[in-house]
Order: sequence, then C-alpha cells, then structure tokens
Amino acid sequence: MTDSIDKKIALVTGAGRGIGKAIAELLATHGNHVICVSRSAGSCGAVSDAINASGGSAESLALDVADKEAVKVACEQLLEKHGTIDILVNNAGITRDGLLFRMSDDDWDDVISTNLSSCFTFVKYLARPMTRKRWGRIINMASVIGLTGNAGQANYAAAKAGMIGLTKSLAKEFAARNVTVNAVAPGFIATDMTAELNEKQQEAIVGIIPMKRMGTAADIAHTTAFLASEEAGYITGQVFTVDGGMVM
Ligand code: NAP
Repeated sequence: MTDSIDKKIALVTGAGRGIGKAIAELLATHGNHVICVSRSAGSCGAVSDAINASGGSAESLALDVADKEAVKVACEQLLEKHGTIDILVNNAGITRDGLLFRMSDDDWDDVISTNLSSCFTFVKYLARPMTRKRWGRIINMASVIGLTGNAGQANYAAAKAGMIGLTKSLAKEFAARNVTVNAVAPGFIATDMTAELNEKQQEAIVGIIPMKRMGTAADIAHTTAFLASEEAGYITGQVFTVDGGMVM
C-alpha cells in the first residue's frame, strides 16, 4: 500500500486504547494527521503524544461520543481548523451485557447511544465537506455479534447490526460523491473489552475460533487502514469480518 501523497486528516473515536489506538497509530504511520478521540483526556492524549514523539502528526480530543451537542460543537471546531476531515473511523464502543429480563433501560440506552447514535452524529457533522471535496472514507467498527446476535448482548448486537444498516444506507447516499462507507466486523480481539471475560469464557471462545487464537488490535487496524486508503476507492457498503474464520 502506498503512503498518502497529500496528508489526509483522520479522526478515530475510541483511540485511547485497544483497536482504536492501533488504528490511530497505523493511520499516522501512513502519513495522515490523526485526531485521537476518547472519553478521558489521559488516554487519547497519551496516544497522540506517542504518535507525535515518534515523528507522526496527531492531536487529541476528550469527548463523550454519546453527547450529541458536544460532538456537534467539536466537529464545528475541527472543520474550522482543518477544513475537511477526510477519514472518519467510528470505533468507540462499550458493552453492558445482561440477559434481557435483567437488562436495565440505562444499559440499553448507553450502548445504543455510544455505539450507534454516535456514528450518526459524527457522520452528520463531518460528511458534508467530504462530499463537497469528492473524497472521503468512513469506516464503522461493527462486530460479528451484529451479524449473529448473542445471548446476553441484545443491546450490543442491536447497536452493531444498526451500524451495518447505517453503513449500507450511507454508502448508497454518498457513492456518487466518491465517499466510501464500510464496516469492519471484528471477532474476538484481545483488548481491555475482552479482558473482562474470565479465563473459562476466554478458553471457550478460542475453542470456537478456527484459527485457535483471539485476534489482535493490529489485525483490525490493517483492514481499517486499507479501507481508508486511496486504493480502496471502489469498495463501499461492505462489511469485512476479521475473526479468524469464526463466522463464514
Ligand atoms: P476498549 O479497549 O474498551 O476501548 C474503547 C475505547 O473507546 C476507549 O478509548 C474508550 O475511551 C472509548 N470510548 C468508550 N466509550 C466512549 C465514549 N462514550 N466517548 C468517547 N470514547 C469512548 O475497546 P476495543 O476492544 O478496542 O473495541 C473498540 C471497538 O471495536 C468497539 O466499538 C467494540 O465494540 C468493537 N469490537 C471489539 C471487539 C473485541 O473483541 N475487542 C470485537 C468486536 C468489535 P477511554 O480510553 O477514555 O476509556
């Protein structure tokens, strides 16, 4: 893959840890300026500092992606500063697992607003300049759970399936403007999110993965960076499952 000829501006939500951090670092390695967004200033600040210290270009932005008004204000400020955000990676996500009868309204609302509604909000405020520029890449971090469902994760599965529907609809809306919209559906990836599972649960998961290992954040970052590249310009509306062969 060739490095960007002109430096693109990328925004990655959930860039403070795990998959988002790996994506931010890789996009920076490819010559993009990366805006690292996470909830806590400490995590996204540490990632952008590390990118800058290693010769890349980054800035950080602490923001609750579920806060629509805060996202709107932040996007307006970013567009004033940068003109256009060329690459948007909607990656921030949470789990609040529980079987349906035990799932609180807050658990439902928090997962839908953080994982799904945030994608709508960021696209709403950042996509128009992409369409005017006739160049853009939007990548939504879904999950295999959005394809298969999972007992105890009705909120998460609904949010991730919703992201896939959003991806396909926006791909159709923006295709003529050369703005691609794709989703990545990771399987089980070793991050803080899956570290919450106990040893027995992790063993059971590895047992059902044909490749017999959890994925790494780098596995997801490489797929995402490809979809963000010039070379992926004819791919839109697709869901890329990266899961060691679990869902076929
Ligand atoms: P993670 O290690 O838990 O990191 C989540 C990141 O999202 C953190 O940087 C966190 O910010 C940020 N974040 C969470 N809520 C936020 C909010 N309201 N506003 C702003 N930032 C917020 O998660 P991960 O495993 O890397 O997962 C990343 C994405 O991949 C998620 O969408 C997840 O659903 C998806 N995914 C993960 C797996 C997996 O196995 N790990 C599988 C399929 C899909 P702070 O750093 O400030 O806490």
